[in-house]
Amino acid sequence: MYVLDSSAFITEYHTDESVSTIPMVREELVDESAYRFDAMEGSGMYLHIPEEETVERIERAARETGDLEELSETDIRLVAAAFELDATLVTDDYAMQNVAEHVDVAVEVIARVGIDEERTWQFQCQGCGRVFDERKERCPICGSQLSRKNPT
Ligand SMILES: [Zn+2]
Repeated sequence: MYVLDSSAFITEYHTDESVSTIPMVREELVDESAYRFDAMEGSGMYLHIPEEETVERIERAARETGDLEELSETDIRLVAAAFELDATLVTDDYAMQNVAEHVDVAVEVIARVGIDEERTWQFQCQGCGRVFDERKERCPICGSQLSRKNPT
């Protein structure tokens, strides 16, 4: 089972696996991607509504990884749905990937070559202010937590 986020509908992601998503994703889609959602629902896509308990668990995980403020309510619920269904989450959102990995949900990244410019993140230490190109658990210099920083 694959759980699709809204970008999967927008980029016409295709898989032969059985697919599911949450009803809130439909609200983020317009035009062709919304029709695609409806067509997939018509051909058997499963709509799942995760339990509040699971949603809270994912929120806690997102707080732990420092991704909570990057995530919409829809994003959190998609990770929760994949968690409950023991499914693979299909997304190109870095924060969702990160939280999913933290709670052992498998992730399939949507290849976006030629669609969007690749966004590169940097991570800044909240203690000493050093900036790193890759996410680390802790700052190797002072041991403080890192937070994401938009490249300037
Ligand atoms: Zn530091």
